Amino acid sequence: MICARCTKPIKSDEPSEKVEHHGGTGAGATMDVHARRCQPAPQQTSPTRRIR
Ligand SMILES: [Zn+2]
Repeated sequence: MICARCTKPIKSDEPSEKVEHHGGTGAGATMDVHARRCQPAPQQTSPTRRIR
């Protein structure tokens, strides 16, 4: 699986944790991130930010 924070692969033997990610539609998604602190991926491309 892919870490939602740093977008790097999480190995099966690496500790990970699930985080709730709430989209604008109200449908929440559960994403996996490294349990340890990892560097967030730089967001150079920021498509239309949803403001409601
Ligand atoms: Zn990570």
